Amino acid sequence: MIQFQNTKSFAQEMDEKDPLKAFREQFYIPVINGRESIYFTGNSLGLQPKTTQDYVLNELEDWANFGVEGHFHGNNPWFNYHELFPQQLSPILGALPEEIVVMNQLTVNLHLLMTSFYRPSKERYKIICEAKAFPSDQYAIESQVKLHGYSPVDAIIEVNPRVGEHTIQIEDILNTIAANADSTALVLFGGVNYYTGQAFDMELISKAAHHAGALCGFDLAHAVGNIELKLHEWEVDFACWCSYKYLNSGPGGVAGAFIHQQHTINKELPRLAGWWGHEKATRFKMEKGFRPIATAEGWQLSNAPILSMAAHKASLDLFEDAGMDRLLTKGKLLSEFLFFIIHDINAGFTEDPIEIITPENIKEKGCQVSMLFIKKGKEIFESLKQHGVLADWREPNVIRVAAVPLYNTFTDVFQFGLIVKAILDKS
Ligand SMILES: *Cc1c(COP(=O)(O)O)cnc(C)c1O
Repeated sequence: MIQFQNTKSFAQEMDEKDPLKAFREQFYIPVINGRESIYFTGNSLGLQPKTTQDYVLNELEDWANFGVEGHFHGNNPWFNYHELFPQQLSPILGALPEEIVVMNQLTVNLHLLMTSFYRPSKERYKIICEAKAFPSDQYAIESQVKLHGYSPVDAIIEVNPRVGEHTIQIEDILNTIAANADSTALVLFGGVNYYTGQAFDMELISKAAHHAGALCGFDLAHAVGNIELKLHEWEVDFACWCSYKYLNSGPGGVAGAFIHQQHTINKELPRLAGWWGHEKATRFKMEKGFRPIATAEGWQLSNAPILSMAAHKASLDLFEDAGMDRLLTKGKLLSEFLFFIIHDINAGFTEDPIEIITPENIKEKGCQVSMLFIKKGKEIFESLKQHGVLADWREPNVIRVAAVPLYNTFTDVFQFGLIVKAILDKS
């Protein structure tokens, strides 16, 4: 157990000892007022690796040099470019390579997966999800329910935090699933809630869903590259994620999907099909009759967006070098240090100016810490920006920050604390 101290020398010492310290150099850090910013929005848009431009340029050059031949004769032939990813994503997701496919965008994948795994019947048609899920997920769920002819009011059950609390108790999730065991078709949660930063116990939720006879899926937008995942072992049925948050693969970057092996081998499973999901050996025979690949690739529709995938590859190569274990260890330390600093700031006031709404329990959070400012939240947020801190504002009074292990430092966290304290002392 490390004894944290709210001092510059302590933060510098932690940075010096950090086995991942060299990775910061591999990223472009945005500059504000002539100085490197304290970039705490890696949970929203991860920073650009310095290698990304070369990776993308290589594909542009192959296109220039080879034209259509680049599909088979480029340096990384585009025909199987997407096959570079499952192996690298496997330790990040805790999944078998055959269960992973990189394709499309996040919300598109959510719809594709719900098409296969939300198959309501007259008795079983409900979806259990978290209250205040990310809006795109809410809209996806609502429209899927309507598509099947059900009423969202009846078919969607949201699990809420208890009165006076910000996060959802696992007991309430499990009880809701049990109470609706006969009518629930699907349990669909985020891995980490985008607003509170609460990480859900996916293993328990998955078990409870299956015990109730339902299927279970997760939106991992805020979980992938951030917390430990063991999708295969937890027997999660499906999951999807985007690559532009913790995975640093660029705005609107190509997304991903996980489908458990027990489902990928079932070629009869209903799905929306496209030619890229068809068996490779006969894909170019262009014949009638869709025969899916028996891996997660069987859910692919279109040929791959190579430029976006090149950016993804640049970032995943860094993840491979850093190693997920070391990233998780440093990520935990950074967020614990941030908690310590905020508690220390609060201790200087008679009434706490900051309420942390992210759970403090290490198993219930990732890098993100969401802070509710009791007074003058918006002013403080604007002032942070002027002082070179890039954080994220959510109405009515929450500031979200994430210190991410690939490029943030303990000094970033210390400096953030100094700035917040100075602003609070003045206001
Ligand atoms: C970021 C995020 C999205 C964004 O969806 P896109 O399809 O990538 O635009 C959706 N859901 C969650 C939970 C998110 O965090």
